[in-house]
Formats: sequence, C-alpha cells, structure tokens
Amino acid sequence: MAIKICLDPGHGGNDPGALLGKRYEKDDVLRLALAVKPLLEAQGVGVVMTRTDDKTVPPIAERCQMANNAGCAYYLSLHRDAAGPAAHGISLWVHSRANDPTVRKAQYILDELLAVTPTQNRGVQKGTPQNYENFGVNVYTTMASALLELGFITNADDNDRFDRYFDQYAEAIARGLCKIVGVDYKAQDRPSEGPQDETITIPRKDWNTLCAALQAAVDALRKAGEGDG
Ligand SMILES: [Zn+2]
Repeated sequence: MAIKICLDPGHGGNDPGALLGKRYEKDDVLRLALAVKPLLEAQGVGVVMTRTDDKTVPPIAERCQMANNAGCAYYLSLHRDAAGPAAHGISLWVHSRANDPTVRKAQYILDELLAVTPTQNRGVQKGTPQNYENFGVNVYTTMASALLELGFITNADDNDRFDRYFDQYAEAIARGLCKIVGVDYKAQDRPSEGPQDETITIPRKDWNTLCAALQAAVDALRKAGEGDG
C-alpha cells in the first residue's frame, strides 16, 4: 500500500484565518495544498486532504482522526502567519515534547523552503505554555506532524515571495515531505520514461548460464527430432 501523507490547509469557509485586506490565509493555504498534492502523487505518495475547497472544516481533532484512520505517515498543516507588518519569515511548529525524529522531519521541510529564496529562518519551534503550547494538529495525530507558517500574510514582502515563488515553494514542500517518508523525489520536468519497473537486468554470469541452458535445450530437442525421423 502506498505511503500516505495528510495535507491540512488551515481554516476555510467561515474562518478566513489571518488576513490582509481581501487576502485570506484560508485561500493561500488551499491553493498551496492543491499544488503540493499532484507533486506528491507523481512520486507515488498518496494524499489525504482535510479540505479541497473553501468549506468550513470539522474541528481539528476530527481532521486528525481522518489522517489517523487513513494510516497517514505524516501530517502537515499549512498556514500563513500574522503579526505586525515587520514580522516575516518561515517557521514550523511541532509538539512541545516532540522527539528528535519529529523535529528533524520538520527541519527537512524548512530547509527546502529556505533554499527557495532568502528570508528569515524562524526555525522549528516547540511551543511553551506562554507561546502556542501545542497546536491541535500536533496533539491529536498519531503520526509525526508539524504546522507550517509559510511567511506572514501581514508582511508585503512575504506575500510577494509567496506569490512569486509559489511553484518553487510547492515543490520544496513536496521534496521535504518525500524525504520525511523516505521516497526519493524525482523531478517532473522531463517526460515519462515508460514502464521502468518492467526492465530486468540480468548479470553477465547469469546470462551465460541462461544461454548455456537454452543451447542445451535446443540440442536436446534437435536430438529428439532426429530420433523421430
Ligand atoms: Zn492559520
């Protein structure tokens, strides 16, 4: 069975998330999730989406349960941050008691995103009782998870980066997720190479053995044919 990842575009429907004028977090993150999905599927990774359109989502515990029930290997919630107009950069949030592998997995995604274009590295964050102790996505999931804040919707430069590098960000997330689940990411900008997995390579020594066996079989048939003549 294919490895599955849950993509959770935050907010939706009645909940716009953070906003700047008419720009809503819920729209940015849905567009992003819908761009990441086919990139993962092209790598043979299954995707469970908590929403695929602008609808009000069930409570976070239920969304996590969708991923738990589907046996997802990783859960990524997609968000955009909000603060004063100067705050900018990218962060991922993991559970306050996340283990090292979970931190490392979030770091894979962050590294890929920071490689797209320079911006502030806000790091892989563990909440504290004073500061986002634990997001629901990191509480109710049974698999490793993280909440991504891809730039601040309240910062003009971050919005510019989000739009200008949208395709690269989507691919960066897909690359990071593939690394997390141990799938070798293959670039998609070249045509399909056909049914690769039907190609069989026979080592030379086996080939020689096979030829000898065939020759023996042919000889035996020939001999049998002579006998009947
Ligand atoms: Zn959000």
